[in-house]
Amino acid sequence: MSPDYAKVSLASAMSLGLSRGRMYRGAVNRCVNLLVHYEEGCAANCAYCGLARKRPGRYLEKSFIHVDWPLFSMDRIIEAIRARPPYVTRACISMITNGRCPGHTLEMTRRLRSEADIPVSILVSPTVLRDGDLSAMKNAGADKIGVALDLATEGLFEKYRGKGVSGPHRWSRYWEILKQGLEVFGPFNVGAHLMVGMGETEEEMVRLMDRLFHMGAVSHLFSFFAETGSALAERPQPPWPVYLRIQLARYVIEERLSSHEEMSFDEEGRILDFGLASDLLESVIRLGEPFMTTGCLGPDGKVACNRPFGNCLPDVRQWNYPYRPNDEETALILEGLLPGREKYLRQGGAG
Ligand code: SF4
Repeated sequence: MSPDYAKVSLASAMSLGLSRGRMYRGAVNRCVNLLVHYEEGCAANCAYCGLARKRPGRYLEKSFIHVDWPLFSMDRIIEAIRARPPYVTRACISMITNGRCPGHTLEMTRRLRSEADIPVSILVSPTVLRDGDLSAMKNAGADKIGVALDLATEGLFEKYRGKGVSGPHRWSRYWEILKQGLEVFGPFNVGAHLMVGMGETEEEMVRLMDRLFHMGAVSHLFSFFAETGSALAERPQPPWPVYLRIQLARYVIEERLSSHEEMSFDEEGRILDFGLASDLLESVIRLGEPFMTTGCLGPDGKVACNRPFGNCLPDVRQWNYPYRPNDEETALILEGLLPGREKYLRQGGAG
């Protein structure tokens, strides 16, 4: 169990040579995503989560964000990180809701920093953090944290993580830790995990991303992707164009090209206008970058935590590209966002 052992996402294990396999289009995982491991697992019961207490199965075998997490000793993980390929630029420890977790996370952070010399993020569990834990994490060597708000509104948070599922999490506590995190780690070193497809409107998600950005926090987007056997096993993924619109909105907000105030929405909260001239909007879409996974950056300023295929199955249509979309994928994205546009151009439209 942790702190001597940790679960490693299958994609990370493949990048480090700990597990065998090949990924679609040669995708690589640039972050070593670790998850603490305890026999008793997580005490929370989030409706969408593979690790939820009431999801059937042993913690050891439970999938998380839809992928397997094989267990390795920290000695073996550190040895593999020391021999890592150059594209692996960060490690992250995901906490769970378990009282033993904060102290062990510190110990694991210290080892990763001192023995493997790799930047470390911690995906914190606000519910089990005590006063001083965030500062202790920074002192142990972590330079970024993630806070999994996950839901866009307090009502949805309560429904899927709080009282609605007899869970221990509270919206106010998550915000308190997010604000404390900004004080301890500084602007743009705190990422909020946000999940699209939980019943929020596009406008609610855009308003939240705008608020976070103006506080100094960045949005790390996920799409809902049902875990077998979880309380929401039958819920579909958000429609692809909806997710593309939210990704594009995040990009234009964080690149300071637009804001919630400059965008317009219909009566059901769908984005009607991104607040950009249409030719600029199209060139931003063609960059492909807005649709790539968002997560903690590596020292090179590029996204390290690119979580290949954590949100969808490998295909040309992806709910987070772990690499820059190619021409075929970009054409599909453009068609998803501006239906008819690609066909018009192919037929010799003026552009
Ligand atoms: S985005 Fe950052 S905090 Fe979140 S899982 Fe990735 S590395 Fe960890």
